[in-house]
Amino acid sequence: RAKSAGGNRSELADPEADARAITRHGLTTALPTALERGEFFIEYQPLVHLGDGSVRGAEALVRWLHPQHGVLGPDRFIPLAEHTGLIVPLGRWVLEESIRQARAWRERHAGQAAGPLRINVNLSPCQLTHPGLVQDTVDILERAGVTPDALCLEVTESALIGADDDLLKPLRRLAEMGVDIALDDFGTGYSNLANLRRLPVSILKLDRSFTQGMQQFPADPVDLKIVEGIVSLAHSLDLAVTVEGVETGAQAEQLRILGCDTAQGWYYARPGPPERLHDLALVDTTG
Ligand code: C2E
Ligand code: MG
Ligand code: MG
Ligand code: MG
Repeated sequence: RAKSAGGNRSELADPEADARAITRHGLTTALPTALERGEFFIEYQPLVHLGDGSVRGAEALVRWLHPQHGVLGPDRFIPLAEHTGLIVPLGRWVLEESIRQARAWRERHAGQAAGPLRINVNLSPCQLTHPGLVQDTVDILERAGVTPDALCLEVTESALIGADDDLLKPLRRLAEMGVDIALDDFGTGYSNLANLRRLPVSILKLDRSFTQGMQQFPADPVDLKIVEGIVSLAHSLDLAVTVEGVETGAQAEQLRILGCDTAQGWYYARPGPPERLHDLALVDTTG
């Protein structure tokens, strides 16, 4: 079909050909200038308190509106951005943009939200080792005029595996300033529970694979026991537990019963444009 129609246009109309056309090389050459061309945008997904259902924050998730291939998810280009070094300026841009949103959101809901609204931003391992991380973050917060408690940085467990003190130092500095640090995708890697005490984290984000185990009601008893154990360990270390990938009310209910604090997932909202945040997070005063 593509052949008879000829040319690039028909190739793009064919999803399979399109998938083949998105080669690693093609994206790598377009990536360095994508930031200057303003092709990245951020979607926000609310974080909901399981106890009272109120919105407490949102996670910033970056997307690339590629001129030929349309919207690409982070899994398609973050690894390339890490490989090429673009992740540092891209990450800075995501931080700046998200914190600007946090400020707007907080202003709009001053005194009306259940608690101080917060934006969660993902950090890749390359950003962690970049010497400008702490100063960049301080500058961005100051420029936006928001307090550090408006920000939660998400770092994956695997990024901190075997982390020595040099790697943890910037995170400690940020945590001391009042930025929350969350351990993302917890439970997927070689979870070293003893290691948790060393890390300057205040939140565990349980990976979606645990939530998937709660799809049926009642859930697999072994899955329940594992989550129960993680939650109790986390709470005993003063860590809050967030769960990702909640897609059904049954999952939300089981995770709430298990003592998880906050949840995120399609059941509440898919990631969406920042305007959507404006309607969220108002405390329902109608009882
Ligand atoms: P993550 O931080 O674990 O983010 C959660 C992912 O789960 C997001 O995928 C989100 O869209 C998806 N998700 C949320 N709720 C549900 C649900 O109910 N069901 C299912 N099946 N999925 C759900 P997304 O947006 O494709 O992001 C993938 C990963 O890319 C993120 O995983 C994060 O590691 C990375 N990422 C995203 N934005 C950034 C960024 O600005 N910087 C860096 N370094 N990494 C980012
Ligand atoms: Mg995350
Ligand atoms: Mg995650
Ligand atoms: Mg994940």
